[in-house]
Amino acid sequence: MTKLISYIKDFFFLIYPAFCEACGKTLLNNESVLCTNCLYELPRTNYFGKDDNPILILLAGRLKLEYATSLFSFQKDSSFRKLIHKLKYKNKPEIGILLGKELAADMKKKNDFLPFDFIVPVPLHPNRQKQRGYNQSEQIAIGLAEILNINISVDNLIRNIETTTQTKKTKDDRWQNVSGKFIIKDEETFENKHILLVDDVLTTGATIEACGEMLLKINGLKLSVAVLAKV
Ligand SMILES: [Zn+2]
Repeated sequence: MTKLISYIKDFFFLIYPAFCEACGKTLLNNESVLCTNCLYELPRTNYFGKDDNPILILLAGRLKLEYATSLFSFQKDSSFRKLIHKLKYKNKPEIGILLGKELAADMKKKNDFLPFDFIVPVPLHPNRQKQRGYNQSEQIAIGLAEILNINISVDNLIRNIETTTQTKKTKDDRWQNVSGKFIIKDEETFENKHILLVDDVLTTGATIEACGEMLLKINGLKLSVAVLAKV
């Protein structure tokens, strides 16, 4: 039976070959989303578990965190930039899932790794999610959850007012824009839990800070942050 499934898979692969989302090369049968070469060449940081990593430094004094990490650095003209763009705007949720798995594999390498109770993606406004078809941070969370074997919570930390697009705003404007835009529906669910807050790209940290502030008001909650890249 397994052999038959494998034949069917090969057959469809011949008719509908898949292409690497970064370089466009035809993927081999055992590859998905990215070719082995592009996956290997992504600009990894190895920040996880390091106390002086730039993500922790950026958020220090703003949030009390157990861990903070970014899997990649956001280098100009790297294929990673293209991947994030496709994940956000080109209906490619599978990129988020794959990179979420890579992020989890990186975190699991550390021996003193504290387990998380819930993975919480930064929520999108429901209108934007409807437009896009999915929340890209949730796709990253799905990949993370699969490898780390942890539940995802998507309906407890929610966004209640639409924020306008952040690209043309100054740092202060951005803070005004996101502060107070998140609510927690049921605090008890997160009491005494270690939450891994997940987002795609960290710029000023204002969105993570606004979410984190709400979460850290909850009794006994421990917070960690993971993003795919820091700009
Ligand atoms: Zn490639």
